[in-house]
Amino acid sequence: MVSLLVFACPQCRHFTNAPAGQRHRRCSYCGKIIDITKAMCAVFDTPNAASAAVREFNARGDNEFLAAVERSKDRVRALMPSTIIGIEDISSKGKAPVHVGKRKMLMEMLEKEARDKPCSLDHISELCREYKLEWFWVEDELLKLADSGLLVFPRPWTVQIVQSSEKKMEKAPEKTDVSREILATLREAGGTSSVKEILSQFEARGVNQTSVEDSLDKLMQSGAIFEPRPGVVSIV
Ligand SMILES: [Zn+2]
Repeated sequence: MVSLLVFACPQCRHFTNAPAGQRHRRCSYCGKIIDITKAMCAVFDTPNAASAAVREFNARGDNEFLAAVERSKDRVRALMPSTIIGIEDISSKGKAPVHVGKRKMLMEMLEKEARDKPCSLDHISELCREYKLEWFWVEDELLKLADSGLLVFPRPWTVQIVQSSEKKMEKAPEKTDVSREILATLREAGGTSSVKEILSQFEARGVNQTSVEDSLDKLMQSGAIFEPRPGVVSIV
């Protein structure tokens, strides 16, 4: 059975927990990514006991917690994964880390590891070394990506990319205004046509449905066309 660690968020001081062995989790209260290895921890044997302790510590404050930390000191030491040397440790001895293309490297890493599937924060922090990124910087970037909706935290200790910034950029020019073409089509058809027919004609020309529907709305609002019957449009 997995033991649970209870610790406080260094930013907002709320107590929270994580299974032993995890090195990072996102704070549910303030969103900070907490380095569990640097936090004082109290250990509990079941999720229920850990949750109860979190509630108790949040309600009653640090003293109860410190007593629990003292009681579980030796066990925590045994449970904690050994520290991995990060790029920040290496760079202080060697040359400064390369800052050029850092964001590109991060996105590359996330695309590979966390696209459409959750990846643990621990794994990301391990990969930082390989990608020559500093974990502290990555932490900040992950939160920024989460704010912009490109990344989600399926669980407090995992991240997942939901939409790439490249795709977002590609999407914008996709929508085109085909109002004039629709008017021309209607004229050719004698002034009246079914929406279904217009959609299929434009689809054949490689124009997506959203573009056609938006253009139809625009023409409708401007009074250039009207709907004599549901699903049928006519030039005014
Ligand atoms: Zn917090």
